[in-house]
Amino acid sequence: MADPRGFLKVRERELPKSRPVEVRLRDWKDTYAQRQEGQPFLKEQAGRCMDCGIPFCHQGCPLGNLIPEWNDLVRTDQWADAIERLHATNNFPEFTGRVCPAPCETSCVLGINQPAVTIKNIEVSIIDEAFERGLVAPQVPQRLTGSTVAVVGSGPAGLAAAQQLTRAGHTVVVYERDDAIGGLLRYGIPDFKLEKEHIERRLEQMEAEGTRFRPGVAIGTDITWDALRRRFDAVVVATGATVPRDLPVPGRELDGVHYAMDFLTPSNKAVAGQPVEGAPHAEGKHVIVIGGGDTGSDCVGTSLRQGAASVTTLAIGKKPPTERPAHQPWPTDPILFEVSSSHEEGGERSFLASTVEFVGDEDGHVRSLTVAETEYLEDGRRVPKPGTERQIPADLVLIAMGFTGPETPELVQQTGAETTGRGLVRRGDDYASSLPGVFVAGDAGRGQSLIVWAIAEGRAAAAAVDAYLQGSTELPAPVGPRTVALRG
Ligand SMILES: Cc1cc2nc3c(=O)[nH]c(=O)nc-3n(C[C@H](O)[C@H](O)[C@H](O)COP(=O)(O)OP(=O)(O)OC[C@H]3O[C@@H](n4cnc5c(N)ncnc54)[C@H](O)[C@@H]3O)c2cc1C
Ligand code: SF4
Repeated sequence: MADPRGFLKVRERELPKSRPVEVRLRDWKDTYAQRQEGQPFLKEQAGRCMDCGIPFCHQGCPLGNLIPEWNDLVRTDQWADAIERLHATNNFPEFTGRVCPAPCETSCVLGINQPAVTIKNIEVSIIDEAFERGLVAPQVPQRLTGSTVAVVGSGPAGLAAAQQLTRAGHTVVVYERDDAIGGLLRYGIPDFKLEKEHIERRLEQMEAEGTRFRPGVAIGTDITWDALRRRFDAVVVATGATVPRDLPVPGRELDGVHYAMDFLTPSNKAVAGQPVEGAPHAEGKHVIVIGGGDTGSDCVGTSLRQGAASVTTLAIGKKPPTERPAHQPWPTDPILFEVSSSHEEGGERSFLASTVEFVGDEDGHVRSLTVAETEYLEDGRRVPKPGTERQIPADLVLIAMGFTGPETPELVQQTGAETTGRGLVRRGDDYASSLPGVFVAGDAGRGQSLIVWAIAEGRAAAAAVDAYLQGSTELPAPVGPRTVALRG
């Protein structure tokens, strides 16, 4: 039972303080300091939860996190029960608690006329405290089924599927083409948002439970998809949506114009102490980031830490509103103007900016961009408005315009697997692909999304695989492949 007056006694949200910008720009460590130093206000904040008759926060979260239950367990200092309730729906709260955009908070009932409950911070505090207190132990299966499952791709979808299936008693091998496990958690998201020790700690638990990891193995080249299918009773395709969207304007071929991931991945590798040669680096350069999403924001924080001379983000659309507009009412997840920790650190942001051309010098290196104001046509198309062109200096351009879908050529050529018109791996309502025994989870089937959706899909796909292998399943399936977010 929640404190019935909690939200009346404490009306304001209180969150851990981030480290001063000038300090955090000198390293790659987590932006937030206080998480490690304890939070005297945490119980009071958890006490603001009203234990609503209809907890709309559940609706916002694809995992169906039992938010009011663990809020009250934090308020009453019952950490063992709090982590049990949190893990009941989420395999990896240390990831979502750090980098999820928290749609649960935008649908929190308290948010109608007060600031929402600090759900995300309470979540990450529970899992950090649980690790600290030794409350996160391996859950080794009581018996093995004798069935084998290959999971291809080690991002949050693959890892969630693997953990669920291992705990259900199947023998699970996770294949990853990169040299380390984690997918975009490892080599996409920078350390200042997610330090990699959080991945290591979870992988230790998974290995102790029996999941086997095979990094450095690309399915389709090192092992063919057909050989994999012959070797395992079931296969989960969790290969992500890694094909970047391009910007085919004149000058695209110039040196210094790169996809965001060709910049972020080597940067993450360098931070991990690996040798990186020939990768784009922002030191002393005028950096232009094209695209205003998470990937673009990560490019800003990374460029600033590498010592860029200037960083400008160009977004083709209008600047979103800072308050919920009437057409995106509670409890939908509104599209608002967001200031990420990277945006706090510096750089300019320009909206309604359409890139017309990359302009180079005689050596073939980009030196500036021609940018025009975006004009909206009646049919909704966005085009550069003639006569509004301007030049902005650029030595390094990072294209962060999202991803079009998964890389499927080998899968399709070697197995005949069907894809959708959008290039995603086709799947039915039970996550099954067009191939018997092959299932699809995460961005590979949904398209570019969020970590919380990848975990939810990994859990649900695991339930489908278990039912396929055993005839029935008790594993939870929080979302279907066609479940969509409550968008405004
Ligand atoms: C830069 C960036 C920042 C982001 N920031 C956030 C954020 O702050 N919050 C958030 O919620 N979401 C964020 N996202 C989105 C989020 O990371 C993804 O939605 C999520 O990781 C998808 O999980 P996944 O498991 O489906 O795929 P991925 O994480 O993409 O993992 C797929 C893995 O499969 C491997 N693979 C592919 N093909 C093969 C093969 N043939 N053989 C073996 N392995 C293969 C890939 O190497 C990769 O490691 C971000 C994305 C990017 C790019
Ligand atoms: S909607 Fe908000 S106040 Fe209500 S139960 Fe969920 S977190 Fe608590």
